[in-house]
Amino acid sequence: MQPPLRSLLLICVLAARCGLSSAPVHGEWRDTRTVDVFDIRSEFSLTDARGSSLLAELPRLRRDIETLLGVSADAQPIEVNLFASRRSYQKYLSVRVPEGASRQALYVQGTDRGRVYVHRHAGFEVDIRHECTHALLHNALPYVPMWLDEGLAEYFEVPAHQRATGNPHHSAVRRAMLIHWKPSLPHLENLDDLNSMSGSDYRDSWAWVHYFLHGPQDARQALSNYLYDVRMGNPAGLLSERLAAEAPDSPRRLARHFRDFNSM
Ligand SMILES: [Zn+2]
Repeated sequence: MQPPLRSLLLICVLAARCGLSSAPVHGEWRDTRTVDVFDIRSEFSLTDARGSSLLAELPRLRRDIETLLGVSADAQPIEVNLFASRRSYQKYLSVRVPEGASRQALYVQGTDRGRVYVHRHAGFEVDIRHECTHALLHNALPYVPMWLDEGLAEYFEVPAHQRATGNPHHSAVRRAMLIHWKPSLPHLENLDDLNSMSGSDYRDSWAWVHYFLHGPQDARQALSNYLYDVRMGNPAGLLSERLAAEAPDSPRRLARHFRDFNSM
């Protein structure tokens, strides 16, 4: 489901180099408001039902991420920039984050805040949830491995009631299982460039996240312990190594998890 070039994580250094600031360069924002940790600036009104639903959903997204992962994600404000068209989005980014202007949507971590850039299109709420998940994770943790960052963003990008059972990745996994699916967590852990992530890497990152959140107790505990160590600044190592220490057959257990889950 996920185009590989959809989002981009840029570190503070880049944000500083680009001289990012909060002042618009193109005109006035039609709607600006602060909701929870989100400073929202929009080129279109958010007073209709779709806008109201979005505004209600963002604080819930933060709370759900905090509850599910046992973290606190309110360290810094998150600026959410919404554009009326792709053209306007690209024009705005071309002078601020030219490297990201061709992306479908964008998250940039600045020294003062995270910034999310999304343009309006059919289903743009998915992009908002996806990029805001990145921003919330980086609010909560000093670093997030790329595969886990993307896997969690894929997990939280669908509406809340679809997370466990209604993500389009479910059917992709079902199809992959028909042709000897072999999702390798060490392979995902070795990826360090977003451009090298394929569609199947996104699917498999999501699948491992689903396993860690909805799978057996030892897998959920492994993720919880891992995130605790990341948060505390302890040497966290690799999640695959923690899993292997608990159960050496984790790829098979992952496949079994989805077989059981799909038959529920
Ligand atoms: Zn992403």
